[in-house]
Amino acid sequence: MAEKVECLIIGSGPAGYTAAIYAARADLKPVLYEGLQPGGQLTITTEVENFPGYPDGVMGPEMMNQFKKQAERLGTDVRYGIVTKVDFTGPIHKVWVDEKTEIHCETVIISTGASAKWLGLPSEQRLNGNGVSACAVCDGFFHKGNDVAIVGGGDTAAEEATYLAKFCNKVYMIVRSELRASKAMQHRVKSMPNIEVLLHTETDEILGEHAVEAVRVKNRKDGSTREMPISGFFIAIGHTPNTDIFKGWIDMDDQGYINTIPGTSKTNVRGVFAAGDAQDKHYRQAVTAAGSGCMAALDAERYLANVKSGVAAE
Ligand code: NDP
Repeated sequence: MAEKVECLIIGSGPAGYTAAIYAARADLKPVLYEGLQPGGQLTITTEVENFPGYPDGVMGPEMMNQFKKQAERLGTDVRYGIVTKVDFTGPIHKVWVDEKTEIHCETVIISTGASAKWLGLPSEQRLNGNGVSACAVCDGFFHKGNDVAIVGGGDTAAEEATYLAKFCNKVYMIVRSELRASKAMQHRVKSMPNIEVLLHTETDEILGEHAVEAVRVKNRKDGSTREMPISGFFIAIGHTPNTDIFKGWIDMDDQGYINTIPGTSKTNVRGVFAAGDAQDKHYRQAVTAAGSGCMAALDAERYLANVKSGVAAE
């Protein structure tokens, strides 16, 4: 028989855990499934300096551990598992975990976040884990003292380039157009003498048989190519929302970000709410994700109160 859950939270980043904290305090007995990357994207970042309440900064994984502890202390049932299928046909929402466990939920909060994008080169796939990585913070240290390259010109690439530059000999930052990172991040990049920024440059090929040995890049303006010996190749070119399993059930935009009713966390399906990066392509910050997780729990609580009192819930 399927387990019955009042409030199911899918995903364990700042949005999911904040929703859990609020839902647990509202006695909704939330069950949270951690998903593929327990703790979410902050577990693969370094120091977080912009989350209020941490005057000296905090390491991303440590912060997520504290979110989890707080959610559990207040009564959230945090489980390891991946939601693989949903059926939002009826008033009771059906969810399957790891293909087999069926759960019947009165409310669902989607906080599945977003995942790193890849370039799509065959060499990138072939050498993934052997010098190619989408997480400089996880894998950068293996390249201590070596030359490495990072692709991307946004805040993530700038942040990771400065991180790598602290212990790598040289960091090539491969930017296909112009830097779009904030002025503060650009300043940090430029202040590191061992970062070389290659503008209007694309990756032609990552070279190496069993591990990364070099990268060949191409200037998009004059077509000239250049080969640099490196041991690590990092990709930081943005993210895709993790919303595939909700396609066909929940309204989304053309990139797969979930559409919510402005000013709320409500989706087009009653009793299903969305929070965090799965529905936010503009701000994508831990603190905004946490705020939207709080909104989702409050919306779920009000929805359940209306259902129980016989008021037609929106
Ligand atoms: P962005 O979307 O901001 O930047 C992506 C970068 O990757 C751009 O330079 C883009 O180039 C490039 N790119 C995209 N696709 C390709 C491709 N196929 N090949 C080569 N290059 C490519 O992503 P970020 O992850 O950097 O940032 C996401 C959001 O998170 C932003 O709003 C950012 O401000 C925020 N953020 C904030 C931080 C902070 O405040 N501490 C830290 C990290 C992120 P192009 O410009 O040509 O499209």
